[in-house]
Amino acid sequence: MTRSEMYRRLRAHPDPWDMIVVGGGATGVGVAIDAASRGYDVLLLEQNDFGKGTSSRSTKLVHGGVRYLEQGNVSLVMEALKERGLLLRNAPHLVRNLGFVVPNYDWWEAPFYGIGLKLYNLLAGKYGFGASRILSREETLERLPTIKPEGLRGGVIYFDGQFDDSRLLINLVATAFEQGATLLNYAPVTELSKDAEGFVDGVQFHDSETGEEFEARGNVVINATGPFADGLRRKADPTVQPMIAPSQGIHLVFDRSFLAADNAIMVPHTSDGRVMFAIPWHGHTVVGTTDTPIGEATLEPAALEQEIEFILQTSALYLEKKPTRADILSVFAGIRPLVRSGEAGNTAALSRDHTIRIENSGLITVCGGKWTTYRHMAEDCVNQAATLARLPERPCVTEHLNIHGFHTASEKFGRLWMFGTDAPLVEQIEEGDPALAEPLDSQLPYSAAEVIWAVREEMARTVEDVLARRTRALFLNARAALRMAARVANLMAAELKLDADWEAEQLASFRQMARNYVAT
Ligand SMILES: Cc1cc2nc3c(=O)[nH]c(=O)nc-3n(C[C@H](O)[C@H](O)[C@H](O)COP(=O)(O)OP(=O)(O)OC[C@H]3O[C@@H](n4cnc5c(N)ncnc54)[C@H](O)[C@@H]3O)c2cc1C
Repeated sequence: MTRSEMYRRLRAHPDPWDMIVVGGGATGVGVAIDAASRGYDVLLLEQNDFGKGTSSRSTKLVHGGVRYLEQGNVSLVMEALKERGLLLRNAPHLVRNLGFVVPNYDWWEAPFYGIGLKLYNLLAGKYGFGASRILSREETLERLPTIKPEGLRGGVIYFDGQFDDSRLLINLVATAFEQGATLLNYAPVTELSKDAEGFVDGVQFHDSETGEEFEARGNVVINATGPFADGLRRKADPTVQPMIAPSQGIHLVFDRSFLAADNAIMVPHTSDGRVMFAIPWHGHTVVGTTDTPIGEATLEPAALEQEIEFILQTSALYLEKKPTRADILSVFAGIRPLVRSGEAGNTAALSRDHTIRIENSGLITVCGGKWTTYRHMAEDCVNQAATLARLPERPCVTEHLNIHGFHTASEKFGRLWMFGTDAPLVEQIEEGDPALAEPLDSQLPYSAAEVIWAVREEMARTVEDVLARRTRALFLNARAALRMAARVANLMAAELKLDADWEAEQLASFRQMARNYVAT
C-alpha cells in the first residue's frame, strides 16, 4: 500500500467513480471498505493523514455505551454492542476484552449499577463479552490495587472492548485498498463541482506534497469529514444551516503505576455529569474525558487549562496516588462530531446516534455515531448512496470481512502484537539489521524497523504520521516522542530519498505541533 500505487490507480481510472468519499477517518474509510467490498469503484480523499481528525483521539473503547443505557437509548446500545462483537471477531489482533470496575462508595451503588450492567450484558446477546457481577471490597481492591480504599464498599465489574484507534484505522485503509479502493492522504478537497442541474458530480483536490491539482467526477459524493462536515456542506450550498455541534474531549496519560492493573475504572457520574474512565493502554494509564462545547473544529485542538484541572481533580478522588501536572506524560484533545438537536444546551445529552443527510444538491453527509459503530454507519450510508447514484444494488458483506492484520493469537508476536499478520514482516526488517530492532527511546518500545515499515507499507509521509498514528509515541509520552523525532526524520528521509532540508523542516513542524501534547 503506497502512495504511488494509489496515484497509479487514480490516473488509470476513467471518470466517473461510483462513489467519492471525502474524509479519511473511521467513518470515511469504513464507507470506502463497504463500497469497495460490494464491488463499487471508490475514491477516498483525506486532507491530512488518515486519522488526523477525531479518529486517533478517542478513549480507545469499543463499547455499547453504558451511559446511553442510563438515558434509555436501548436500541443504540444494542446496535453498538453488536458492532463491538463484530469488531472483536473481524479484528481480534487489535480489539481486547477488558474488565471495567465501577467502584462503589455508597450503599445503593452496587445494586443500582449491578442491575444496569446485567442488562448491558443481556442486550449484547450472542455478542456478549462476559457476565457482569458485584464485587466485594476485597475483590475490588484486588482488581484495582491503586483505588482509594477509604470508604470503599465494593464494586461492580462488567466487560467491554478496548482497541488502538489509529492502528485500526491504518488497517482499515489497507483493507479498503485490498478491496480495490483508491485512498489518498494529503489530498484536500477544495471545491465541489456540479452538473447542469445543480447536482454535485465531483470534487477538486490537490496533492499537498506536489501542489498538483486534480478533478474527479463521481456518481455520488459522500461527505465524511466528521467535525468539519459543515464546511464541505457549505461548498455545495452556502446557505445550509450547520448540523454539527462540536464538543471537545481531552485525555491525560500517566505511567502505568497510577492504575497498575489490567482492569479499567469507570466512574459513572463525575461532578459535571459525565462518565470518566481510567484505562490501561499500551503500558500506560489513560484518563478521560471531558465534554466542552467549542465554536469551530480545528485539526489540532488543544486541551483547555480547566479541562486538565478537572481530570486531575476527578482522578484524585478515586486514585490512591494522586496524579499531578508533573506526572502528565501526554495530553490529547479530540472533537466529537455531534449532530445538533435543534436546541442549545449540554452536549453530553446530544444524540450519539449517526445521521445521514442527503442535501438538495445530492451531497450525502454521514456523521455522528462513534468509532464502535463505523461499520454499521458505512452500511447505511452506502445503501443510500447506491440508491441515489442509481448503482446496481449489491449486498453489504462487511459483517464477515476480516480486517487487514487479522490474527487470533497475536500476543505471540510480543511487543509487535498490534501488527497481527504483518508482525513477521516487521520482524524481517529487524532481522535484516539488528540495530533496527533497538528501541528509539528508553521510555517507549518502538524501533527503527517500525518507522521503516510505516513508510514502506502504511503511507506514512511525515514525522508526525509515524510518531502520532503509526506508532502511538506522541499520545503515550510527548517528551519521549520529541526525543525520537530527529532519528525518525533521518530514517524517513533515507527511505523517501529526501534531503537534509526536508528533515529540518519536518523536525521543526513536529516540535511545534507536539508542544500541544506536553502539559507544562
Ligand atoms: C474525546 C473523544 C473520545 C471518544 N471515545 C470514543 C470511544 O472510546 N469509542 C468510540 O466508539 N467512539 C469514541 N469517540 C467517537 C469517535 O472517535 C468518533 O465518532 C469518530 O472517530 C469520528 O470519525 P469521523 O471519521 O467521522 O471523523 P474524523 O476522524 O474527524 O475524520 C474526518 C476527516 O475528514 C478530513 N477532512 C476534513 N475536511 C476535508 C477536506 N476538505 N478534504 C479532505 N479531507 C477532509 C479530516 O482531516 C479528518 O481526518 C470519541 C470521540 C471523542 C472526541
